[in-house]
Amino acid sequence: MTEMVATARTRPSRNVIWAGAAALVLVIAVALGWRSSLVPEPVMEMLSYVTSSFLLDGALTAIEIAALAMLGGIVLGLLLALMRLSTLAPVRGAAWCYIWFIRGTPIILQLVFLYDALPVVGIRLDSFTTAVVGFMLNEAAFCAEIIRGGILSVDRKQNLAAASFGMGPFLTLRRIILPQAMRAILPGMANQTISMIKGTSIASVIFVNELTFRSQQIVGQNFKFFTVFAAAGIIYLIMTSAVAAAQYFLEKNYSADAERKPKIIVAPPTRGAAPVSPTAWMDTLNASQAVGAAADAPFVVCRNVQKSYGSREILGGLDLTVKRGEVVVLMGPSGSGKSTLLRLVNHLEALDWGEITVDGNYVGYAKGVGDRLVPTRNLAKARADARIGMVFQHFNLFDHLTALENIIEAPIRVYGEDPDKMRALGMSLLNAVGLSTHADHFPHRLSGGQQQRVAIARALAISPRLMLFDEPTSALDPELVGEVLAVIRRLAEAGMTMIVVTHEVRFARDVADRVVFMDEGRVIEQGPPEEILDHPKNERTQRFLRMVEQTETET
Ligand code: ADP
Ligand code: MG
Repeated sequence: MTEMVATARTRPSRNVIWAGAAALVLVIAVALGWRSSLVPEPVMEMLSYVTSSFLLDGALTAIEIAALAMLGGIVLGLLLALMRLSTLAPVRGAAWCYIWFIRGTPIILQLVFLYDALPVVGIRLDSFTTAVVGFMLNEAAFCAEIIRGGILSVDRKQNLAAASFGMGPFLTLRRIILPQAMRAILPGMANQTISMIKGTSIASVIFVNELTFRSQQIVGQNFKFFTVFAAAGIIYLIMTSAVAAAQYFLEKNYSADAERKPKIIVAPPTRGAAPVSPTAWMDTLNASQAVGAAADAPFVVCRNVQKSYGSREILGGLDLTVKRGEVVVLMGPSGSGKSTLLRLVNHLEALDWGEITVDGNYVGYAKGVGDRLVPTRNLAKARADARIGMVFQHFNLFDHLTALENIIEAPIRVYGEDPDKMRALGMSLLNAVGLSTHADHFPHRLSGGQQQRVAIARALAISPRLMLFDEPTSALDPELVGEVLAVIRRLAEAGMTMIVVTHEVRFARDVADRVVFMDEGRVIEQGPPEEILDHPKNERTQRFLRMVEQTETET
């Protein structure tokens, strides 16, 4: 019994919508002349006002003002929200002041001011335009805060993932952040639109002939307060219900849950349009590896790399060279700067000092005065050109996209690849990581191990020349670690150049060409795995390995 109640309650909103719609149809049917002795005369009279063209014209004016003001308010609000999130203090300050002023003064004063003060400086607007402009300027301030709240609600790791694929700030905002922010933005926006529709009644102070103003005019002549105002109330309810219904459908569209349909539906392989070649991904990978330095030539070179956060030094003059085709496993205690180093390699963070080259080129730097490195202007393009695939500890898949959509997003949007070709390659990649039947799944429906395998496929889809793995298995349950390591192992066999931060000793022993041990921002020991893992010379390496082994035997 309790179970039945629980299932019945999972979709209450749909029933509410249908009930509301039915009630509305009934009211309108009655109003349109279906007379019955059962309906009392005052009600009939009220309904005749609901359908009177005088009031409906007023309602239309209210809708026009609200729609135009909301539209302009959302556009201006998005601009203000972005200004509020800017790194430039004057830009932030300007947006803050605007919002502070508009929110802090009554809309009625703002409207009267626009209506009476602007003609003094020679700008003459009619009352309708004044109302639209006034409400729009007012809405912008409120929308800005709602949109900013939505943007802040999206995990910052999504930005990091997008940046690692060379997506620029506006592409990231449009394709990754805003679609996810919509979930948080929509309820607030619907509230705002509803208050806006009702708030248009304030425009009567500047003689806009809208619904409330017209109701008052009728009442002024016939003194039928109840019937006329009740009719106006019903018209307002109909208008605001339409907004509530729109909110329902929009929320469904942006929901992270099962309710949202994937935009790309993958046909089952037997009926598939694009045949999946199991080796297509390997071919493109080999092609991308074939350019650039010869095998065994230095590929990633870090020289005297220094990085501090505030006054805290994280990397203190680190040197590291990774040869082409080499697999380097990076180990070291938590906080020793491993993630920071990886982020510096593809310029997700800026260097303080020293230099890093990938295949002989700086990623997003140019030599400036006195040989100092200066960051180039288009960092996103520099990252894209570098073709460095990055896999994060917490996967950082784009939550609003399916597995396949995650994989093809950057190739299509950043590299301008053909969508059909990418879908085929994406399926080949999913096949390679053992997930060809999960192409339509959203990340939250996948296990951690599956998410990480999708993340690896996503990084491979940009035909990377270098792969960076930041503790790819440390967020996984022990039984899922193997499936991810197996994929990385295959990449190593395929000759991919990789820097893998991991504490999986067995994996390092089998796969690594070299193990690099880091502590306090420096490389303190490095060499072949058997040497570093079995006969570490440095006392700190010994202590760390003992600790790792201990936890391994415990789990
Ligand atoms: P590891 O990956 O080796 O555990 P990290 O490179 O993540 O180490 O971090 C090194 C140190 O830098 C840590 O103490 C961390 O708190 C600090 N740190 C990392 N990122 C930031 C940041 N954006 N701002 C300030 N401190 C940071
Ligand atoms: Mg780390």
